[in-house]
Amino acid sequence: MLITNATLITWEEPNRVLENYALYIDGDRIVAIGPQSEMTTRYPQAEHLDARGQFVMPGNICAHTHFYGAFARGMAIPGAPPKDFPEILQKLWWPLDKSLTLEDVRASADVMLVEAIRHGTTTLIDHHASPNAIEGSLDVISEAVDQSGLRAVLCYEVTDRDGDAKAHAGIAENVRFIERTRREQVAGGRVAAMFGLHASLTLSEATLDACRQAIPDGSGFHIHVAEHESDEYDSLAKSGMRIVDRLIRHEILGPRAIVAHAIHVDAREVNLLADSGTWVTHQPRSNMNNGVGAANVESFMRAGIPVCLGTDGFTSTMWEEWKTAYLLHKVWNRDPRRMSAADVATMAVYNNASLAGSFFPEAPLGVLAPGAHADLIFVDYHPHTPLTPENLPWQIVFGFNDGMVTTTIASGKVLMRDSKLLTLDEAAISAHARELAPAVWARYEKFVPKN
Ligand SMILES: [Zn+2]
Repeated sequence: MLITNATLITWEEPNRVLENYALYIDGDRIVAIGPQSEMTTRYPQAEHLDARGQFVMPGNICAHTHFYGAFARGMAIPGAPPKDFPEILQKLWWPLDKSLTLEDVRASADVMLVEAIRHGTTTLIDHHASPNAIEGSLDVISEAVDQSGLRAVLCYEVTDRDGDAKAHAGIAENVRFIERTRREQVAGGRVAAMFGLHASLTLSEATLDACRQAIPDGSGFHIHVAEHESDEYDSLAKSGMRIVDRLIRHEILGPRAIVAHAIHVDAREVNLLADSGTWVTHQPRSNMNNGVGAANVESFMRAGIPVCLGTDGFTSTMWEEWKTAYLLHKVWNRDPRRMSAADVATMAVYNNASLAGSFFPEAPLGVLAPGAHADLIFVDYHPHTPLTPENLPWQIVFGFNDGMVTTTIASGKVLMRDSKLLTLDEAAISAHARELAPAVWARYEKFVPKN
């Protein structure tokens, strides 16, 4: 397939913006990039996909999300509003994840995947919880990802909060699914696996040890760290150590591990994260919504931590997340010089591509280059000032929005063309989720603590 009449944004290092270019895809890879006239001569037989002058760029990548959260939209939390993040967990997320059946898990994933295709996010790293439907839950999500045509990294969050048996069922689900991805190409090789852990505050010493023992060699953990200060105080009470020290002692961290948030870590923990090569993901919309503060991600990056950008279950609108990151650190520090758009691009483009690419190493990911995975989007943006590789991050923050994505391609397959979804039936998926929602909400009401 020859994509013609494109303005390519390659996101190479350094980035290039190439007008009147064409890009040739064969199977699931980008084969060649060149000036339009040269490429039409070189590939005379190719089927054309006319970009009509739109920007063509790598699909966005989300480094941390929760497909299971879709039913939270519009749901009422009974009683007094949660006053802090621990209450948000107790009154919203824990009773909601208990309410999910495997059918709900599938429907929730379908809704999130529709939004991902629509908004041009082609790879998502998910963190899943459904304590009353653990076994097989990752298979169900992988079927949804398979049908969507997107790319995803899945895990199940192990926790002690529902008792020993469920903690062990969570461990078994991670191990089973990691082994499955090694035995077979799940979703044609577009689904990879990690080992999920909820957070230090719901994991005992014994469970951390059991997870370390159980994880297959070469796999990494994906865990929330210090999203709220209570996680640090819990760790100190339980182990006499701060969280990162505790996780290092259990050999949880390292270059294959993802730590989400890291808002309340101290200077020593920052150094430990950097020295261990652990990935840290930043989710500014979620942090603002939960009132948990702002991670010091500029310092993390100066310390050498690869910081990535995720959505934490908000819609997969990565440019909204860019804008929020860009704005949050300015108001948090009362300094407009903080968090330049170039720093946001380092997280959201280059670091996200390195992280996601580590799960799909057979070809480069997140870049338009010969040999790379053919994951790309068309963006209908008409800049009224010159758009250059240097000012692109600011053009994105101030000009792009996720609704401008008109065409989404992953692994060489067109998933949305001219804003029409081709692999998923958006209306049917929304209707099915709306049918299931009242029962999910009714179960949630039974699990939610009354006060
Ligand atoms: Zn999260």
